[in-house]
Amino acid sequence: MIPFNNSPVVGNELDYISEAIASRALSGDGPFSKKCEVLLEQLTGCKKALLTPSCTAALEMAAILIDLKVGDEVIMPSYTFVSTANAFALRGAKIIFVDVDAATMNIDPECIKAAINSKTKAIVPVHYAGVACDMDSIMALAEEHNLYVVEDAAQAIDSFYNGKPLGTIGHFGTFSFHETKNITSGGEGGALLINDSKMLSRAEIIREKGTNRSQFFRGSVDKYSWVDIGSSYLPSEIQAAYLYGQLLKLSEINNDRRNSWNVYASKLDDLAVKGLITLPNISDFATNNGHMFYLKCESLAVRTALISHLRADGIMAVFHYVPLHSAPAGLEFGEFYGADVITTAHSERLVRLPLFYGITPDQLSKIINSVRGYYKQEHISELY
Ligand SMILES: *Cc1c(COP(=O)(O)O)cnc(C)c1O
Repeated sequence: MIPFNNSPVVGNELDYISEAIASRALSGDGPFSKKCEVLLEQLTGCKKALLTPSCTAALEMAAILIDLKVGDEVIMPSYTFVSTANAFALRGAKIIFVDVDAATMNIDPECIKAAINSKTKAIVPVHYAGVACDMDSIMALAEEHNLYVVEDAAQAIDSFYNGKPLGTIGHFGTFSFHETKNITSGGEGGALLINDSKMLSRAEIIREKGTNRSQFFRGSVDKYSWVDIGSSYLPSEIQAAYLYGQLLKLSEINNDRRNSWNVYASKLDDLAVKGLITLPNISDFATNNGHMFYLKCESLAVRTALISHLRADGIMAVFHYVPLHSAPAGLEFGEFYGADVITTAHSERLVRLPLFYGITPDQLSKIINSVRGYYKQEHISELY
């Protein structure tokens, strides 16, 4: 079976983990956490990067930092992972789901504009598949209405909007280092990027169980105490050591993923030209970090049949998010504003093909030919 995902291993992870073990410094904010944060700051140019146990935790920190109150509204796409909404629902906010743009499955700024009212507090754009949302339009709306922007950049490390790294355009950005993402900190992990320096000292406090322990360690206060709400949002040094190894190889991993992505796009293009499938679109202002390759079938029934056909050929292809506004908790904590023209209809047609660091040419041609076979198109013999 060709798996849908295969967590990246670059070979240096164990050496760094051994180093962490030997140092006896295993709790959060040790040497490897600091090294990872410096690399993330160099990569993105954010004011401060803080490692977190997950992207979920980073989103929760952002939701605490923007001081949401019960009844505040937060606008986001319905086509996203549960954590995008959950983090804000946990603070008592009402989630306002809006429609996406069919070309990218990213939040549609026109729909955001229509949903803004006096209760709106924040916008959470999700850079689906690592491809940028229309950030200029979103930031202009945020500025006009004095709203926070939290970029869910879980899938978007090393991807850009008009040359700006994703995660650094809003007030906050969040990365995921879950094993299904481009790089991982050993299965679970994430980071919060802080782009507004006024938020930094409180972020450190929230991350350290509501204490000013970070200031104490820097010597700026002589004892530390409980000063605010917070939680434990630090990963261990074992996770940071794993991530450090992968961060050093980020370009190699993303280049490999992008090459495979390009092979899919070029070898399936004629099916798109014939109108049998729709291929993903990379907006002019966006880059592609090779996070995900998806295609859209003409209907849910065709998608189901294509997934079974691939499965019978030993290939794991999978669909993606079931829109949150139709989920039980989505109905309880949120509502869809405006018409659901794209979200449900397009999510039902979308299927993701296997894409991971180190996928082989043999695997790629097998998958491409299985898709081509389903549509009764000639097989390809050469990948390049
Ligand atoms: C993966 C993902 C998350 C959650 O990341 P974790 O690190 O598993 O918490 C959140 N949002 C999006 C869009 C994701 O793809």
